[in-house]
Amino acid sequence: MLDHILRSSPWLLVLAGGGCAGITPGAPPPMGPIERRAAAPVSAGVAGDAPSVAAHLAGRAEARFAMIGRSVSGAAIDVRAFGEGPDVILFLASIHGDEDAGTPLLQRLADELEARPDLLAGRRVVLVPVANPDGRTSRRRTNGRGVDLNRNFPAENFDARGRHGAEPLCEPESRALHDLILREDPARVVSIHQPIACLDWDGPADDLAELMGRHAPDLPLKKLGSRPGSLGSWVGLELGRPIVTVELPRSADRLSAAKRWERWGPMLLAAVTFPDEPPPE
Ligand SMILES: [Zn+2]
Repeated sequence: MLDHILRSSPWLLVLAGGGCAGITPGAPPPMGPIERRAAAPVSAGVAGDAPSVAAHLAGRAEARFAMIGRSVSGAAIDVRAFGEGPDVILFLASIHGDEDAGTPLLQRLADELEARPDLLAGRRVVLVPVANPDGRTSRRRTNGRGVDLNRNFPAENFDARGRHGAEPLCEPESRALHDLILREDPARVVSIHQPIACLDWDGPADDLAELMGRHAPDLPLKKLGSRPGSLGSWVGLELGRPIVTVELPRSADRLSAAKRWERWGPMLLAAVTFPDEPPPE
């Protein structure tokens, strides 16, 4: 069914160093909560915001760069993918535009994954370094229309008050992320925020949070409670997939890229290799 969705959905492709390719796991995932819920939202979500280039899936395993959509102002939302295998891990940063310390961390993670194929055996790692490009540019939490994207997902607890958007997925950025998750069907998701300095989680992510926490002693495990319409609520509670929300401290902004990686890189690598410890460099 996911194949069917991919073939019928417009899916923007760009740049992939060697040609045309899409972003999807090589093998069809097992039936699970994501698949059962996928059909209607995917077509509905993409139709309203159809990219102009249709999907061409030949050689999709080669896909390493793709644009999954555009922000309100037209900025590209880019994805990078590494490896190929049934164990799919999705990382996002900067869904809140003024909490962007995770973006350089994911860029560094990309370098690591490129340099260390041992981390990719049997798995595919998908990175969205800037989930909210307009917010990041304007140093605002919300997107270009003033909507908090991390309250705009179709979770049962969605609440249209405040800056959450009139209805779930009314924003192009949240639709792009939503559709990406349905396509990729990740086994686990990590989203990086600031400034609370803890690891929060939703869904069946106790073990994942625990392993990540062992590699980030300055980020204690702390259940913050599921926020209405958040990515955590949707992925963790509705889809039943493990999702860890990394809350870096505000002081992360003042650290060099090298220091940030030294402090939190091992935690990200642990999320990649879960349930195993990351191999030594
Ligand atoms: Zn946040």
